[in-house]
Amino acid sequence: MTHKTLPKIELHTHLEGCAPPAFIRGLAKEKSLDISGIFNPDGTYAYRDFDHFLQVYEAACTTLQSPQDFYRLVKAVLEESASHGVVYQETFVSPDFCGGGDLAAWRDYLAAMESAAAEAEAEHGITLKGIITCIRHFGPDAAKPTAICAVETFGDFITGFGMAGGEMVGRPGDYDYAFDMAREAGMPLTCHAGEWGGPDMVADTLRDLKVQRIGHGVNAIQDTNLVAELADNGVTLEVCPGSNVFLQATGGWSDHPIQKLRDAGVKVTVSTDDPPFFATTMTHEFDMLARTFGWGDADFNEINQTALEAAFCDDATRAKIAKRLETT
Ligand SMILES: [Zn+2]
Repeated sequence: MTHKTLPKIELHTHLEGCAPPAFIRGLAKEKSLDISGIFNPDGTYAYRDFDHFLQVYEAACTTLQSPQDFYRLVKAVLEESASHGVVYQETFVSPDFCGGGDLAAWRDYLAAMESAAAEAEAEHGITLKGIITCIRHFGPDAAKPTAICAVETFGDFITGFGMAGGEMVGRPGDYDYAFDMAREAGMPLTCHAGEWGGPDMVADTLRDLKVQRIGHGVNAIQDTNLVAELADNGVTLEVCPGSNVFLQATGGWSDHPIQKLRDAGVKVTVSTDDPPFFATTMTHEFDMLARTFGWGDADFNEINQTALEAAFCDDATRAKIAKRLETT
């Protein structure tokens, strides 16, 4: 059975990481860029491990050079997401990859993304919101101009601030300046933690960066006190099971901690992270959760409602998406 048409919400995607390989190959050809080394013979992305994945990801991003490229990227990504029943998506966007962190350049990229998102909403009934992320392995100093871009463009489309990149670089507290700046501007916060780091990384992220959501967070399962704390404080985890299984951040599907976390009362949601890089889609995630843990319509409905409550959008958008979940 397939869950392709079931309505879905996903909170944890990286915009460039959603780029279909054929789209990136097309851009590279137009611009005469040779990035053939990042593809397998069958056309999929090729890499050895997580660090190499980050290098391939950044190589793919070199083809995205202008606001018009990002306009086309958003259109391609949302058409693909909508085909899997996604009615609301949040995506991480990085000013570092859009004009090198310059605020004026960033505004041009953002305008292009927003107009593409508006067109895709009219065409496919999917709403996109952006979360600006600093890149952890670029270091704390690089996070500051990113936070300025976030604060200056916080509004209808940019709805939150977060951090992605190599989790084992530095400690969460090293990035507190950027997160403090975003929080003081009223921005909701999320941060990758507990994908590669242990429960201590999740605990430090909550304590030092005061985020409402954690990207991944699955390694929290190793500390029962932390799991209880996550449940008590209503922290939402953006769980990406297919990504974890593919990158071997956790064991296989049957060993994945999403069910145990949910049983312990932790708010869990389901997302694809970087779907074409990890050979997944939202349909595949739902299908595997149904097959592995016996999840049915009631479970998926609960997951959607948890995601809707944790979404960083305004309440008018939340009400609109709630209707889409009822009537789709
Ligand atoms: Zn991620």
